[in-house]
Amino acid sequence: MKKVHIKSFGCQMNVYDGQRMADILAGQGYEETATPEGADLILLNTCHIRDRAVQKVYTELGKLRDLKNGQNATGQDTRIVVAGCVAQAEGAEIQRRQPAVDLVVGPQAYHRLPALLDEARRRRVVDTDLPIDDKFGHLPAPKPAAIRGRGISAFVTIQEGCDKFCAFCVVPYTRGAEFSRPVAAIVSEIERLAEAGVQDVTLIGQNVNAYHGDGPDGAVWSLARLMHRVAEVPGVTRIRYTTSHPRDMDDDLIAAHRDLPQVMPFLHLPVQAGSDRILAAMNRKHTADEYRRLIERVRAARPDIALSSDFIVGFPGESDADFAETLRLVEDIGFASSYSFKYSPRPGTPAADLGDQVAPELMSERLHRLQERIEHHRQAFNHAMVGRTVDVLLERVGRHPGQLAGKSPYLQAVQIEARANQIGDMVKVVIERAGSNSLFGREAGPEGLAA
Ligand code: SAM
Ligand code: SF4
Repeated sequence: MKKVHIKSFGCQMNVYDGQRMADILAGQGYEETATPEGADLILLNTCHIRDRAVQKVYTELGKLRDLKNGQNATGQDTRIVVAGCVAQAEGAEIQRRQPAVDLVVGPQAYHRLPALLDEARRRRVVDTDLPIDDKFGHLPAPKPAAIRGRGISAFVTIQEGCDKFCAFCVVPYTRGAEFSRPVAAIVSEIERLAEAGVQDVTLIGQNVNAYHGDGPDGAVWSLARLMHRVAEVPGVTRIRYTTSHPRDMDDDLIAAHRDLPQVMPFLHLPVQAGSDRILAAMNRKHTADEYRRLIERVRAARPDIALSSDFIVGFPGESDADFAETLRLVEDIGFASSYSFKYSPRPGTPAADLGDQVAPELMSERLHRLQERIEHHRQAFNHAMVGRTVDVLLERVGRHPGQLAGKSPYLQAVQIEARANQIGDMVKVVIERAGSNSLFGREAGPEGLAA
């Protein structure tokens, strides 16, 4: 067998795409290897969301060029592929900057990998076609052994692309227009995963709650309706979805958190900023108070829900007063966790051309202050779990011998003493301690009492 090493950067959609590329290449006689050394094919599945992510790719490519040259000098035929959003955005520029790259393939063209790899034997190839309706129809289903090797949790892309055009964001340009997969294709993919042991399914999309796929009844289905159907798939015990936009949180979706036991009490709902002036300049199409009211509705449906968000600090024109509004929102909501980033100007996006860019030192200082408050709330959320009994789905071996690691309904990592053959079990766990990144507990008795 030939060997392929796939390294995915960035978001969960890239993790999913990386697995689909591994499935395609398995049909071409490639098996996956965890390291680039010795691989015949090295594939970087890249992220373009911030400049730093892009620079990482070029640094990595420099190292891979040396590896390729070294291996090929000993008679191997190592080739390098760049896939993902940097491929889409920079195209042939990648091979100009790093001639060791044999093939550049965008996120909507990777179903053509076998033919492109053939063609790349004769010349350098770039394929960044954007229409995406035919990609999913051409992807081979993963083999049951491949599914089992990836564990009991899986991502399933149900929607791609974005029509929102936030002023800072490259996604509408790198992933293209919004597209929803048909319900039947999603359900059969999830059935296949569940038959091979997957229990925990995360439905993913750049704008997942804008989902509007063709249903088997000829109607257009919403995300809420799709989740009701996914909840019927035997073996699926947990359903999550990410990433949502506040504008697309409809009543049915909120109600699904109340009505479907499989839908986990966790919602990642990026707000980006707390100042209405900045939200308008970002083209987010909602105010901070609209976001607060939305969270009230979600909490009314599911009072224990854990909330998470993304924040950008230092968007052009952000004043001290604007930033104070972001801090106020963080205190008002009390997020269980959040991601936060310094604004990174992206070529081709409207915000990159705005004047009044915030000085880098000020951005760093604001990011530091914001992260300190986010961390405070995360720790408070985790410490409040101590003494509670929660369902934990055991997923893999833990950090120390005799430990297994799993997730709480609130997406927290939980470690307990357990036997290796309990992987895949849903157990009741009494939380005894909150560490900085994980909760620690012990298995409870049958009635949820400590054993
Ligand atoms: N669609 C999602 C949304 O609406 O929030 C996520 C898109 S993006 C993959 C993930 C996060 O990256 C965004 O929520 C935003 O906080 C951040 N991001 C996007 N563009 C950025 C930029 N130019 N600079 C800094 N952070 C950025
Ligand atoms: Fe980017 Fe905004 Fe679309 Fe999210 S909603 S992918 S941040 S343009």
